[in-house]
Amino acid sequence: MPRRQDAQKASEGGSARVISAEGEASAAQPIEVQARSKLLDASATRFAPGLYLTATPIGNLRDITLRALDLLTAADLVACEDTRVSLRLIAHFGLATPLVAYHEHNAERMRPKLIERLKAGAVVALISDAGTPLVSDPGWKLVQAALAEGIPVSALPGPSAALAGLLLSGLPSDRFLFAGFLPPKSAARKRSLSELSTVPATLVFFETAPRLAASLGDMAEILGDRPAAVARELTKLYEEVRRRPLAALAAHYRVAGPPKGEIVVVVGPPAAGTPEALDDEALDASLNAALATMSVKDASEAVAAATGHPRRRVYQRALALSGRGR
Ligand code: SAM
Repeated sequence: MPRRQDAQKASEGGSARVISAEGEASAAQPIEVQARSKLLDASATRFAPGLYLTATPIGNLRDITLRALDLLTAADLVACEDTRVSLRLIAHFGLATPLVAYHEHNAERMRPKLIERLKAGAVVALISDAGTPLVSDPGWKLVQAALAEGIPVSALPGPSAALAGLLLSGLPSDRFLFAGFLPPKSAARKRSLSELSTVPATLVFFETAPRLAASLGDMAEILGDRPAAVARELTKLYEEVRRRPLAALAAHYRVAGPPKGEIVVVVGPPAAGTPEALDDEALDASLNAALATMSVKDASEAVAAATGHPRRRVYQRALALSGRGR
């Protein structure tokens, strides 16, 4: 859509404080320059005191939202994971809002300080290194603490690697479960996958390049050879989506080696009628009955034989139910 129409649409849609009808003269400028000059020239959009959970780009800086720019200009403080990373972001947009680090290693110490600032009436933006904060990133305990103090919390949605990966996977998107990062060690990873194996939804994982091949192999073994996608470097120059069944993806990365960049793995739901699709509760009920009189090994063999579920999956489940798999 031509930029002028964009500007018009934005002003019709209630964002007129950022892009006004007078956008005509400046329509040739990149939209973030128009937005930034408005923000810096006119007094920045006012935000009520509170905590603002703000998404930032996952690669392409032009994915910043106009509202995120408004807020990052107006905020008293931006809490971020790594000040060096976020400094590059805010400097790119010509901003100089103070940054403070809030990450897993200092969160316990910093949270009360941020809450004090918020109680004193500050506008605080929470961002992560990239994407949506709180999604495999710090923030939910800060939200919890803010809500407990009656501090207003608001979200400025935007880029999210999990959603971008899901959209591009070509897999069903009507029902999905975001599972974050799987454990790095194979035994724990397989236990987590066993827990997910009967979920009747598309599964979305974050994964690191060095672990990708092994992780895909474990997925194929525990979830079955489902359709899947590896989405890499989303919104960046070398964006790539490889759509294949899990076993073929695992074989590809075993041979090709770890790919460069950041990765989302998306796995299709279990096909209706396969053992994986059968009800978790029914399997647990059979196992619990068997475990009442048998060892984990004997119970899982008996239940696997009786139900046709894969032995490994039944064994993992029996371990979890007996409390020995945790
Ligand atoms: N909160 C972020 C979000 O909403 O996108 C995710 C943070 S998590 C710590 C980082 C992981 O997200 C990466 O290891 C990778 O799995 C995924 N990721 C982030 N950016 C990505 C990109 N551009 N392409 C593919 N995956 C990405």
